[in-house]
Amino acid sequence: MSFWNSRHLKARKQHICIYCNKAILPGETYWRETGTFDGDFNDYCLDEVCKVAVHKFVENGEELGNLFESLTAQGIVECPDCKSDYVSFKRRENGTHKYHCTCNRCDREWEIEITEEMINEVVK
Ligand SMILES: [Zn+2]
Ligand SMILES: [Zn+2]
Repeated sequence: MSFWNSRHLKARKQHICIYCNKAILPGETYWRETGTFDGDFNDYCLDEVCKVAVHKFVENGEELGNLFESLTAQGIVECPDCKSDYVSFKRRENGTHKYHCTCNRCDREWEIEITEEMINEVVK
């Protein structure tokens, strides 16, 4: 028997998002996920953006690590100069949804922040 419970709550104390390590501050809304998966009991918090990433992208049969590649493959993220989708990226730091991007064609560097809207674009 497996069960899963996903609750949308308002934080009364600080929590940490399990996926990106972002601090969820008191007063902010977040998702509390509890349940069993593959026989393991889970209890963790997700911030709003990671909730969308995990539950739309992953449930669509994709690996979370491929999220950024899907953003570039679908043209949601592209080089602001040459419009190339051949982009390298790395997460800027723990605890944010910001990524540092480098265009592999013209070497332009820029920063983006992944939003719920971008993830919704990928999975629609
Ligand atoms: Zn997160
Ligand atoms: Zn470029």
